[in-house]
Amino acid sequence: MSGMASGGCQCGAVRFRGSKFGRASICHCRMCQKAFGGFFGALVTVHDLEWTRGTPRYFQSSNRVKRGFCGDCGTPLTYDYGGPVEVAVGSFDKPEVVPPTIQVNPADKRAFFDGLCSLPTRAGGTEPEQEKFNATVISYQHPDRDTAEWPPRGGF
Ligand SMILES: [Zn+2]
Ligand SMILES: [Zn+2]
Repeated sequence: MSGMASGGCQCGAVRFRGSKFGRASICHCRMCQKAFGGFFGALVTVHDLEWTRGTPRYFQSSNRVKRGFCGDCGTPLTYDYGGPVEVAVGSFDKPEVVPPTIQVNPADKRAFFDGLCSLPTRAGGTEPEQEKFNATVISYQHPDRDTAEWPPRGGF
């Protein structure tokens, strides 16, 4: 897969881009679950990774691997074992450019994982209190595209 793609953390302090991608995977290992605060880690190797704003902080999660995250907002960003760096798929501006194509480390897969897609779904617009709350929300999240400056000079 090729074509320049960009991404970054939730607050926008760290931004990246790249164009040469490996095969994206979701990893069920317990370390990825913790590092992402989720049920798996979705990662793709970016062979020409370039930081375009800021740089990650790192947590050495084992003797072989350090994991990069935004030091300001905590968004998980990278898995670095010393080879080409793997980047969190969900941090891309358009995660669809690197769709996961394989699952790895199934031994740690959570028992409920396979059932997630069949959970009942609450339709939008059916919870008036929630709708009222949503109407008051002003997002401080960085948009899904590069910006000349962030946060906006004029404020939110
Ligand atoms: Zn951030
Ligand atoms: Zn993992």
